Amino acid sequence: MQPSADSLQVGNYIGALLQWRDLQDAYDAFFSVVDLHALTQPNDPAELREKTRRTAAQYIAAGIEPSRSTLYVQSHVAAHAELQWVLSTITGFGEAGRMTQFKDKSSRYGADQTNVGLFTYPVLMAADILLYQTDIVPVGDDQKQHVELTRDLAERFNARYGETFTVPIPVIQKDTARIYDLQNPTAKMSKSAESDAGVLWMLDDPAVSAKKVMRAVTDNDGTVRYDRESKPGVSNLLTIYAALTGRQIPSIEDEYAGRGYGDFKKGLAEVVVNEFGPVRERALELLADPAELDRVLASNADRAAEVAERTLGDVYDKIGLLRRR
Ligand code: AMP
Repeated sequence: MQPSADSLQVGNYIGALLQWRDLQDAYDAFFSVVDLHALTQPNDPAELREKTRRTAAQYIAAGIEPSRSTLYVQSHVAAHAELQWVLSTITGFGEAGRMTQFKDKSSRYGADQTNVGLFTYPVLMAADILLYQTDIVPVGDDQKQHVELTRDLAERFNARYGETFTVPIPVIQKDTARIYDLQNPTAKMSKSAESDAGVLWMLDDPAVSAKKVMRAVTDNDGTVRYDRESKPGVSNLLTIYAALTGRQIPSIEDEYAGRGYGDFKKGLAEVVVNEFGPVRERALELLADPAELDRVLASNADRAAEVAERTLGDVYDKIGLLRRR
C-alpha cells in the first residue's frame, strides 16, 4: 500500500490486510509500504516519512507479523528502482500507455500535470513483484491489469534471456470484500473520499467510528436484509459486520429480523469498537517508539534485499552488464 494517508480505512483492513494476514500461514509473504510509488503525487517530505511509519505500524497492528513475513519499506531496497529501469527497457511505450489507471489519471490532470513516474508506475510495480520470484499477488480488481503487464514482462524477459522470473498469478479478492462509503454506499470507501463522514478510519477514536456507523445511510424499507442492488447501504453494513466477526450474512440477518436499523447499527458499532479499539491501541504503541519501529523495518529490509539482490544479480548477468567484482 502507498503511504498516502495518516490512517488506513476499514476498506483497506477488510479488503486487504485481513486477507494478507491469513496468507501468512500458507506463504512466505512479502509486504511493502510503497513510498517510491507515493512520489508520483505531491508530498510534504516530513509528512511522507510519518505516513510511511504509520502505514507500517497499521500493518503490524492488523496482524502482519514482521517476524513471520517480510514487511519493509520499498525505498529501503534499492533493487526495486534498479530492476524497474531494466524492465522499462523491455516495456512498449504503447503498452504502458494502455494502462487504464494511467489513462484515467493523465486525462484528468492533462499531459503537463502528469509526471513520467505515473507512466512508469506499473513497471515499478512489476519490479516489486518479480524481484521476489512471487507465485501469487493478492490484489483488488483495479490492479489486475498491472499484474497482467507484470506477467507479460516476465514472460518476455524469460523468452529473451532464459528462465529468470517466476510468472506470478493475480489472486483477485472476493467481491464480498469490497467496502463502500457509509454516506454514499455505491462508491468505494476510500482514503481520498470527499467527505469524512462516510469513511471509517483505522486510527479514529472508536467513539467517532461508532457515531459514523449510527449515521450511516440506509433506506426506508426497515428490514436488515442483504440486497446490493436495492439496499446498498444496509448490504454494506452487513458486509462489514460479517467480515469483522467471521459470521455469515444470513445468520446476522436472522439475529436482527424484526428489529429496526437502530438496533442493527448499535450492534455493528459495538463490533467496530471491539475490533479497532485494540488495533488502534497497538498501532499507537508502535508509533510511540519510532526508533524500535525503524529497527524492525530495517532488519526486514535486509531480509528483503537479500532475495531481491539475488534476482537483480541474475538479471544483470543475463542482459550482459559487467560485474563490478
Ligand atoms: P488503496 O488504498 O486504494 O491504495 O488500496 C490498498 C489496498 O486496499 C488494495 O488492496 C485495495 O484493493 C484495498 N482497498 C482499498 N479500499 C477498499 C475498499 N473500499 N474495499 C475493499 N478493499 C479496498
